[in-house]
Amino acid sequence: MKILIVEDEIALQQSMLQYLSAAGFHCDHATHFREALQKLDEKDYDAVVLDIMLPDGDGLLLLKILKEDKKQEGVLVVSARGEVDDRIRGLKAGADDYLAKPFHMAELAARLQAIIRRRQFGGMQVLEAGDIKVDLDSREVWVHGRIVNLTRKEYDLLLFFLANKNRVISREALAEHLCEAHQDWFDDYDLLYAHIKNLKKKLAEQGCMDCIKSVYGIGYKFIC
Ligand code: CA
Repeated sequence: MKILIVEDEIALQQSMLQYLSAAGFHCDHATHFREALQKLDEKDYDAVVLDIMLPDGDGLLLLKILKEDKKQEGVLVVSARGEVDDRIRGLKAGADDYLAKPFHMAELAARLQAIIRRRQFGGMQVLEAGDIKVDLDSREVWVHGRIVNLTRKEYDLLLFFLANKNRVISREALAEHLCEAHQDWFDDYDLLYAHIKNLKKKLAEQGCMDCIKSVYGIGYKFIC
């Protein structure tokens, strides 16, 4: 789950980064309006945490641009003013949710999870696909009722497959989904192949049907 944090209060930005990274999100950050716009132009995120008052622009204008460009990111607006007015303006502009500062980091993470779940999986907390069951809140995975211990990367891969069931996914898209800051992944897919191999192995060990199929020359397809 890739998140862009747009926040100009550095201490708050850093706390969000630390907390959300530890909670399993891949986080990018921007301090200025222009920087945020550039990152959103270059990359796709699952959700954006968007501060309204930025030094070089209004966060809600950024939201408007995202909507006009038909970008798919979920948007959680955060505002220092905490006034009803900001909340209404944010939601009217198409934000998925709103949080007034100060807020608890656990609350922020829960709201982001909910936004991403609504967008990707129609609001469900537990996903079932073939022999696999995933609890999106606890990040636990089961096969035939037995828990499968996945690394963060393996879990993210599995979720990406589940969000794109029965569709061919290019290895570029998979690598980009996992890459964080490791741009060199684009030239070398060995790491991606290793993660997929391990994921398949762990699922198979619990008796899971082989649902991650290679598509020659392109990438993979999750079939169930
Ligand atoms: Ca601000």
